[in-house]
Amino acid sequence: MPTSPAPADTGSRVIQPLYAEVLRRNPGETEFLQAVREVLESLGPVLTQRPELVDARIVERICEPERQLIFRVPWSDDRGRVHVNRGFRVEFNSSLGPYKGGLRFHPSVNLGIVKFLGFEQVFKNALTGMPIGGGKGGSDFDPKGRSDAEVMRFCQSFMTELHRHLGEYTDVPAGDIGVGGREIGYLFGQYKRITNRYESGVLTGKGVGWGGAQARTEATGYGCVMFTAEMLRARGTDLDGRRVAVSGSGNVALYAIEKAQQLGAKVLTCSDSGGYVVDEKGIDLPLLKEVKETSRGRVADYARLRGRDATYVPHDGNGGPGPWQVPCEVALPCATQNELDEGAAAVLVRNGVQAVVEGANMPTTPEAVRLFQDADVAFGPGKAANAGGVATSALEMQQNASRDSWTFAHTEDRLAEIMRHIHDSCHDTAERYGAPFNYVIGANIAGFELVANAMLAQGLI
Ligand code: GLU
Repeated sequence: MPTSPAPADTGSRVIQPLYAEVLRRNPGETEFLQAVREVLESLGPVLTQRPELVDARIVERICEPERQLIFRVPWSDDRGRVHVNRGFRVEFNSSLGPYKGGLRFHPSVNLGIVKFLGFEQVFKNALTGMPIGGGKGGSDFDPKGRSDAEVMRFCQSFMTELHRHLGEYTDVPAGDIGVGGREIGYLFGQYKRITNRYESGVLTGKGVGWGGAQARTEATGYGCVMFTAEMLRARGTDLDGRRVAVSGSGNVALYAIEKAQQLGAKVLTCSDSGGYVVDEKGIDLPLLKEVKETSRGRVADYARLRGRDATYVPHDGNGGPGPWQVPCEVALPCATQNELDEGAAAVLVRNGVQAVVEGANMPTTPEAVRLFQDADVAFGPGKAANAGGVATSALEMQQNASRDSWTFAHTEDRLAEIMRHIHDSCHDTAERYGAPFNYVIGANIAGFELVANAMLAQGLI
């Protein structure tokens, strides 16, 4: 706590030039700048109380990745045509443990996106209370429409370069958008072949049966809904009987739907890049899983198979509110960054939404977050609410290190405990800093303090 009295405005006075410097040094990295700004805006009171963090230039150091790797990934398709993609790994911060964070394969991936994800990951991972640093990586490779053999060749080429930077004590990737069990399998196989080591803890999200953890697949979505339930509990209510809107139909969305349904909610929507589905009877999850997981299909296929109960609405291309125009009490954006803007937020507020909780990374624009906060809508930021995935990755590493494997029930219990811990530390930190129920401030400050304290203790590195 305070080592010497500091004038009340020290925090905001130092933050503006800090942000200006980040802006100058990272031109055009829109998403990274957005993520940095959102965190810095919360830190004024901490820097006011703790001038030693300002003297040690902790914020400047936290905003600069420890290492950034960019590499060529050549591969050939099934017709023998050669393609060249770009691979990334940003090793952001290792003060709490080895770099940890997923790989994203999507055509939108560039350095700014990977840096934004890596920056968020640093604080998210700290909040879990597990010994993991933060990193992120990926490629602009688009797995959509590619055969298994093409995806395998791409993964092998990607790992041929990346393997030299990885290790269970160094850097431990996992999945993200476009990287699931299939890709992790190919990546692990190539790592093992090159290094001649069965180093289970070098990747997480592995198959159950060869080092993967039970409940890792479910963990991000489950954790998001557990966090939602904690937020509602703090306000004296719960999910039972609630109308819930979910966006996305990937791994996070599917298991957010599953847990919300288990807790008695009615989930009305899901979506993909083509459009969204409204299912007033409640999403038929076994059917959606069949379409998405088994057949790698689209939500339009779900709507077709579901028949009269579901309506499919293609996206209009004009940035309309999409699934958020369906009246609901709880909204769970589980698709991708900046998918929920001010216009959609206004519709949700008008329709009486009570809680918005981020399953994806930074899906809500800053303007939309402000609108929710002004309307007293409970808002759960992704770096707290979606931390269940990476927390369960840390549990996978723990099992790998001890050559053990836990049951589903035990792993899910640990996940629930971790989500409760994250909720309480965000909630209590927000209260301590005079912003009760502001989970954005709570998550940013609680995560920052954990990382900053470790960096201070480890000297100028
Ligand atoms: N990609 C996930 C996230 O955004 C999980 C990362 C991991 O398990 O390492 O947190």
